[in-house]
Amino acid sequence: RKVVIVGGVAGGMSAATRLRRLDEHAEIVVFERSWYVSFANCGLPYHVGGVIEDRQALLLQTPESLGRRFGIDVRVGHEVVSIDRAAKLVSVRNLNTDRVTTESYDTLILSPGASPFVPDLPGKERALTLRNIADVDEMVAAVARKPHTAVVIGGGFIGVELAENLQLRGIDVTILELSDQILPPLDPEMAAYVAQELVEHGIDVVTGTEATVIGEHTVTLATGEEIPADLVVMSIGVRPDSHLAKDAGLEVNSRGGIVVDEFQRTSDPAIFAVGDAAEKRDALTGDAAMVPLAQTANRHGRLVADVIVGRPTSSKPVLGTAIVGVFGLMAASVGWNEKRLRAAGRRYRAIHAHPGSHAGYYPGSETLHLKLLVDADTDEILGAQAIGKDGADKRIDVIATAMRGGLKGADLADLELAYAPQFGSAKDPINMLGFIDD
Ligand code: FAD
Repeated sequence: RKVVIVGGVAGGMSAATRLRRLDEHAEIVVFERSWYVSFANCGLPYHVGGVIEDRQALLLQTPESLGRRFGIDVRVGHEVVSIDRAAKLVSVRNLNTDRVTTESYDTLILSPGASPFVPDLPGKERALTLRNIADVDEMVAAVARKPHTAVVIGGGFIGVELAENLQLRGIDVTILELSDQILPPLDPEMAAYVAQELVEHGIDVVTGTEATVIGEHTVTLATGEEIPADLVVMSIGVRPDSHLAKDAGLEVNSRGGIVVDEFQRTSDPAIFAVGDAAEKRDALTGDAAMVPLAQTANRHGRLVADVIVGRPTSSKPVLGTAIVGVFGLMAASVGWNEKRLRAAGRRYRAIHAHPGSHAGYYPGSETLHLKLLVDADTDEILGAQAIGKDGADKRIDVIATAMRGGLKGADLADLELAYAPQFGSAKDPINMLGFIDD
């Protein structure tokens, strides 16, 4: 069996290595258009700030190490440019020589990821984006030129991480966000805690207005105001890199996501798609959703390998569990937020609690801001958000686990969670959420 994989990072490489573990004879070829595979995308912002000082630490594997350890044929600097589904061939351009050759496959896995979206603004050429090692090199070089000011356009996860890291380099940073709050997965009253943390660390947060022009040393807002910007970063979201699939006639949804079934099979049974380019199945409704997160990319890469070798497996929909750190403050969420529930006309109950992260009498307890959303009729857990300097990650992970297990809101009262005063409370914040009924 010969499996060809497009994209050698999160989803693609998870599929490749799992496949090798399950089938020692499969021929596995991975094409990666950049010069690196298996790099730590999620670590990139922290290299910009110098938190991860060593660039080499971002490079988890090399084509050679993957070849030696897993017998996987990894070709970097190779871009797959088209798919001939009838002949089961891909055309591949060697970016060193510009030569195009073909490679046959029995099964093809697409994990091409998503590209940062750059709107058509005057001056957009000056805006930096962050997706891969070449981008991080460019950003690190820009920071080395000692800019005094930076504007980060877009207050999502990557924007907020980059704002922190640029500020760590002594740059005056402004985050510019079109909507009236940063971090869209959170509800406004929860995002406000994060905005406050940013402001307390000297970062300007400007919401509810858009950039109209990127000038030589400024960004102009719709209001006419000009913000100093020696450096401009664009982080307003990503778009699936699905043109290859589309050109090959595979079904693609209205947001550009490659349509797949629950086992990640595209509209062509010999082709699978995973990761940011593939559509996901929402855990609450079963509807198609786009969720560009590393865990799902890795999970689905693994799943595809199981399916290819015929191993019995099951597929779970996506909750969208996510977390971001801002100067030591954690902001985590899972499932749907209140904005989305309201827009969908769903009947829900919102439960807010502000307990200590552990017993108040033990030093170092920090306030946790928790929000739980449950169905008003069935008590099904629909989503949760947690903000705090300590223990927000743990609480969201517990709720994500409860959601996966089908527990109801009231069941949280009965969860038996580890307790000693430095770690929690005899009535853990999670239990408290389960105590609160209407
Ligand atoms: P990628 O990992 O992006 O890999 C796709 C690869 O395919 C790319 O290297 C691309 O060069 C290659 N490719 C595309 N087209 C072709 C072609 N035609 N031929 C050959 N190769 C091709 N997620 C989290 O859950 N937590 C985080 O903290 C987090 N932080 C992030 C921080 C940053 C800065 C970024 C950019 C992303 C972050 N993510 C995070 C998201 C996470 O990295 C992605 O969800 C995940 O990498 C998606 O995996 P993928 O395999 O779909 O795409």
